[in-house]
Amino acid sequence: MAFVSEEEKTNDYLFKIVLVGDSAVGKSNLLARFARDEFYSNSKSTIGVEFQTQKVDVDGKEVKAQIWDTAGQERFRAVTSAYYRGAVGALLVYDISRRQSFDSTGRWLNELQTHSDMNVVTILVGNKSDLRDAREVSTAEGKALAEAQGMFFMETSALDSSNVAAAFQTVVKEIYNILSKKVM
Ligand code: GDP
Ligand code: MG
Repeated sequence: MAFVSEEEKTNDYLFKIVLVGDSAVGKSNLLARFARDEFYSNSKSTIGVEFQTQKVDVDGKEVKAQIWDTAGQERFRAVTSAYYRGAVGALLVYDISRRQSFDSTGRWLNELQTHSDMNVVTILVGNKSDLRDAREVSTAEGKALAEAQGMFFMETSALDSSNVAAAFQTVVKEIYNILSKKVM
């Protein structure tokens, strides 16, 4: 007799989500904060992890997100197409205290759209919201860009945890909603 536990049922969902954005905007720390509730004051966390599988709660259901980190490739603008392959969600991250990283988001979005085989649910993430005195990109600017490009938007801080889980959850929830509509 076939027996499928509740756990096995929920494991049917595994979403690949990629982190993109310039070097040093805080991608690895967003993942470290979300997955392990850790923060690194230097960039060590960038080296190593290829992806991390994390359970995410969506309306009481547990789905799994396989979250990919660039492992520093972005420094050389050499993020491979394998990185994007099969991705259904993305966090496009910039640093609110570094205008240059905001200006780069167009290029990253382009790359994301070029390499991925479907419409990727994307959230624009303005990280380091704790650096209030060093802000170079206003909240309104971030919001406007996100709206113009059909992205979700949130400002986060991997340092003080603000909105970190919410940013990942927003993407996972939207993917889940889209997929469950298709199945029905
Ligand atoms: P990545 O290259 O995009 O993966 O960026 P990292 O996660 O390695 O972070 C780069 C640097 O920014 C590190 O020194 C982090 O400690 C710092 N950092 C990351 N997130 C935040 C944040 O939310 N606030 C502040 N103040 N610093 C952060
Ligand atoms: Mg990194």
